[in-house]
Amino acid sequence: MGAIQALRGTRDILPQEVSYWQQVESVAAQILSRALYQEIRTPIFEQTSLFERGIGEATDVVGKEMYTFKDRGDRSITLRPEGTAGVVRCLIEHNLYASGGVQRLWYKGPMFRYERPQAGRQRQFHQIGVELLGSADYRADVEVIALATDILQALGLKNLKLDLNSVGNREDRQNYRQALVNYLTPYKPQLDPDSQERLERNPLRILDSKDEQTRAICSGAPSIIDYLGTESKRHFEQVQQLLTDLAIPYQINPCLVRGLDYYTHTAFEIQSDELGAQATVCGGGRYDGLVAELGGPETPAVGWAIGMERLILLLQQLQQAPNFNLDFYIVSRGETAESQGLILAQKLRHAGLTVELDLSGSAFGKQFKRADRSGAAATLILGDEEAANQTVQLKWMMTKEQQTLTQEELLTQLPELKQSLDRHKQSRGH
Ligand code: ATP
Ligand code: MG
Repeated sequence: MGAIQALRGTRDILPQEVSYWQQVESVAAQILSRALYQEIRTPIFEQTSLFERGIGEATDVVGKEMYTFKDRGDRSITLRPEGTAGVVRCLIEHNLYASGGVQRLWYKGPMFRYERPQAGRQRQFHQIGVELLGSADYRADVEVIALATDILQALGLKNLKLDLNSVGNREDRQNYRQALVNYLTPYKPQLDPDSQERLERNPLRILDSKDEQTRAICSGAPSIIDYLGTESKRHFEQVQQLLTDLAIPYQINPCLVRGLDYYTHTAFEIQSDELGAQATVCGGGRYDGLVAELGGPETPAVGWAIGMERLILLLQQLQQAPNFNLDFYIVSRGETAESQGLILAQKLRHAGLTVELDLSGSAFGKQFKRADRSGAAATLILGDEEAANQTVQLKWMMTKEQQTLTQEELLTQLPELKQSLDRHKQSRGH
């Protein structure tokens, strides 16, 4: 009998990978809580109609990618393909907006889309997302963008590109839509089949087609930016100015659009050159019309979602040891040294430090390599000589400085050592 395997498009997250996930989740939670974002957890499945209304039937997600099924009570149920619709439903259902002012929320968890699986594209994948509800201010757009770049930077990612666009308000988009259809109609036979179909239903979405020929045709299309009214133009300029003031580089990409009516003003994506075809790690924008679309009061809102799998692929490529929280890696060789190593590890852990003990008994060289990769701030080294003298060598991994201490001294000097460890951990993590 063949063994049962995980479903196509799903993946087990094995212990050696889990530390990356924990790192991402804790960095995100920390950065978001400093800006007073509160975590919210909504169900994994919802009524199908929530997504049909909240994402739109003309989108790929609703049209082709949803996991929809009838439950035993004959209700149409869908595994959530994204987080925003559920958060907005929850907001309306619990009157969260009634408290007035803005709501700053974040979520994390699995999402489900029936897609062709490849690196960075799965059927069960995970997102971390934020939603800032109740503010139409351009600073809200910039706040969420800055939080995304803070999180990615804190994780050590570099060479990321922020693409920015504005889709204006409903009226701007109506005017633009007509201009776009006029431009594209003569090219209709050369467009890919999906785009041909969208020409009537959802022409803006043609701009983010992945088909090469369609893209070439779109490169000559009129730009939505030229169709922004005074108010939209001002919002867009204010967003750009504030990004510049914050030294967050961006480039304007007029092809970055969302085809749905409730999307307004700012749209953005953060991409990496190192992810191949699945380049986008974060996508977001303003959706002033969604809360009302789902039956709530008119509520402006802006948010984003980061794809965890893609982010973690990048972190792995950085080959950065994920555990920047590790204080000490203990290397030991020789019977007495090895047992002293374990005793020292326990004492340090009791003092609140995070300590990894190399249990391999292999040659020093191999243990040192593992210490290098571990991400620890410092390595403690115990050989026969140290064991005999009850000493230990302490090596700072960043500066390579090394000093000999008695084991007693190591423990009594912990309060000062902790400060140095924290400094080293911080600069290694960033
Ligand atoms: P793409 O164009 O890559 O399909 P999308 O526009 O469908 O992305 P969004 O709905 O904006 O993606 O979701 C936000 C982020 O979630 C994406 O930028 C990506 O990082 C991640 N994501 C989306 N779909 C998947 C998937 N099937 N597998 C893994 N990550 C995904
Ligand atoms: Mg997609």
